[in-house]
Amino acid sequence: MRCRDAKFWLAAQRDGDLARPDALALQEHLKHCPACRAYEQRLGYLNTLLLTPTPRMHPSISTERIMLAVEQRKQISRQLEDIRTQQQTRMARMRVVGAPLAAMALFTLVSIPLLVLALAIVQPDLLEQTLPLLSNVVGVLIVLAEYFQVGLTLITQDSWLLLGVAFVLVVMMGMWLRLMRHPQEA
Ligand SMILES: [Zn+2]
Repeated sequence: MRCRDAKFWLAAQRDGDLARPDALALQEHLKHCPACRAYEQRLGYLNTLLLTPTPRMHPSISTERIMLAVEQRKQISRQLEDIRTQQQTRMARMRVVGAPLAAMALFTLVSIPLLVLALAIVQPDLLEQTLPLLSNVVGVLIVLAEYFQVGLTLITQDSWLLLGVAFVLVVMMGMWLRLMRHPQEA
C-alpha cells in the first residue's frame, strides 16, 4: 500500500465509509509507516478540535441555576395564568349578575316616561296635579341615571351597546322633562 492511498483511506475511515478488508490493510500499513501514523494522529487531533462543541460563553452559570430560573419562570407564568382565570370567572359572574340587573333598571327607567305619557292621554287632570311632584321625581331619576351610567362604565367596559342605550335614555329623559315643563310655564 502506498502512503497516498493510506491517507485517503484514513479520511474514509474517519467518515465511516471504509470496507473491513481495506481497514485491515490500512492497519497493517500504519504498523510499518511512522509517517502515516503521525498523519493519523494529526487527523485525529483535528477531528477532536472540529467535533468538540465550542466552549460555553458563561461558565459561571451552572446548570442548576438555569434549571432554577426556568422553574421560577414556569411558576410565574402559572401564577399569571391563575390570575387570568380568576379574572375571567369574575367577569363572567359579573356579566351573569349584571346584565339582568341592568336590563331591569333600564326597563324601569324606560317604562316610567311611557307610564306618564299614558296617564297624560287617559287622565290629563290627574297629571296636572301630580306634575310638579313628578318633575322632582324625574330630576332625581336623571341624577340616578347618571350614576347608573357611571356604574355601567365600571361594570361592563366592553359593552358599548348597553352604554349607548343608557346614554340615549338620559337624553330622552332630559328631552321629556323639557317638554313637560313647557305647559307649566304657559
Ligand atoms: Zn505510509
